[in-house]
Amino acid sequence: MARPVAICVVGSGYVGLIAAVSFAEIGHKVVCVDNDPARVKTLHEGRAPIYEHLLPELLAKHGGRRVEFTTDLGLAVRKSDAVFIAVGTPQGDTGAADLSYVEAVVSEIARSIDAYKVIVEKSTVPVYTNEWVRRVLYRHGVGPKSFDVVSNPEFLREGTAVLDFLHPDRIVVGVGTERAAELMRRIYDPLTSGSYYSQPDALRGTCNTSNPARLLVTSAQSAEIIKHASNAFLALKISFINAVANLAEAVEADIEDIAAGVGMDSRIGPKFLRAGLGYGGSCFPKDVAAFHCVAQEQRIDFQLLDEVRKINDRQRDVFFNKVLSALWTLRGKRLAALGLAFKGGTDDIRESPAIAVIKTLLDAGAKIAAYDPAAMDRAMTVLPQAENLHYAQDAYEASKNADAVLILTDWKEFAELDLVRLRESVRFPIVIDGRNLYTRQAMIDHDFTYVSFGRPDVPSGAMHPAGAMTESFGARNIQ
Ligand code: NAD
Repeated sequence: MARPVAICVVGSGYVGLIAAVSFAEIGHKVVCVDNDPARVKTLHEGRAPIYEHLLPELLAKHGGRRVEFTTDLGLAVRKSDAVFIAVGTPQGDTGAADLSYVEAVVSEIARSIDAYKVIVEKSTVPVYTNEWVRRVLYRHGVGPKSFDVVSNPEFLREGTAVLDFLHPDRIVVGVGTERAAELMRRIYDPLTSGSYYSQPDALRGTCNTSNPARLLVTSAQSAEIIKHASNAFLALKISFINAVANLAEAVEADIEDIAAGVGMDSRIGPKFLRAGLGYGGSCFPKDVAAFHCVAQEQRIDFQLLDEVRKINDRQRDVFFNKVLSALWTLRGKRLAALGLAFKGGTDDIRESPAIAVIKTLLDAGAKIAAYDPAAMDRAMTVLPQAENLHYAQDAYEASKNADAVLILTDWKEFAELDLVRLRESVRFPIVIDGRNLYTRQAMIDHDFTYVSFGRPDVPSGAMHPAGAMTESFGARNIQ
């Protein structure tokens, strides 16, 4: 195995922390820096500040040994050969990425550099950020021989972040000098040579010794664009299937069959063809907007990206209208909201469609009982418990006496509900599924009225606002 590298990771969020413990897992010595003292204290106590599968295990294994945590960026930089910047790059007022956190970190790095360092952009940043990083370092008097800037975008997904990092589809390194390329190759060698996968205690995933991780070395500009283009393409896939779902609904076709049929084409593939409430999270919305701004700055017409956003935004209205046409009026109605996180497997609520939908429903006068397996604490910071909003202990408590159950997040737990028990909890057996987690047949078998995306309602035609409710709907629900 290649010699271990002394690595500093700046930022201990969803990307920085996973990168830090994963670099430790593949044999490197890591210092992870955050300017939030409470977060660093939590990490010193061996606790994970975020919900992420396998993170507690890696923290227990490497915390205080191969990975340490600090607020002292200067010291961490001086101890390290490579400095990974993994701070937030949120959406600014114009849609472009707000790079002020990155700039602040680069300025601090500049004040601490005492020997050659490779400075790595791990945060998602617009093209030419590598140039800006270089300029900031020069302005602080750091000479060109003291550093190289590398773009090494991260493709992990929250919920499967550790395995994504250790078993990546690809590792992209955008680099301008052989010296920096050599260090980056050394850092990722355990994954690209496969030596990590041959260890008996390695975490198992898609890569192995005969199929190790692939490394793509390119220019910094290309690497920066690979990240934005990848996220924009995935968002496009989601919006595309949602647009098709709306069409499918209009002609009483079934989007699940359509997605299966389309996804069987190996040129397209089945992933990211799930119709529903659309994407959210801290990446797709801001990255689509930032990529569009990048194109506009270069006077490139990339209207497609705005269309992707518009379709995604519309899905929330489509869902709201489904709720309305199922329940007629909302004032005083009791709704179970299953899901708060922007997707299953995480406690992240940034740009969560679930939160947006709940806000709209509350504004319309509904009473909500919400439940999420991991994101309730975070949700309470933006939607505090109130007379019209209660946080429940589980899906069944949330559904107690509900006029309808709304599925807002694709947690596995919500796809495996005990439908007999759910039927007993609710006031009216109506499920409005924003994530298409159930087959229509499962709902027919359990005598639910079921509304989803891109498929005929169950019972068929029950919810068309223009038509009367069917006999069976009336018979079951009006008491
Ligand atoms: P995050 O908000 O979870 O974490 C950022 C961390 O950086 C916070 O803990 C914050 O306290 C810390 N920080 C901010 N300024 C600092 C400073 N000056 N010094 C030290 N620490 C500082 O963000 P995230 O979700 O981990 O995202 C980080 C970057 O990675 C973003 O550019 C994002 O687009 C990108 N990314 C995110 C994901 C994801 O799934 N979350 C995936 C791929 C790429």
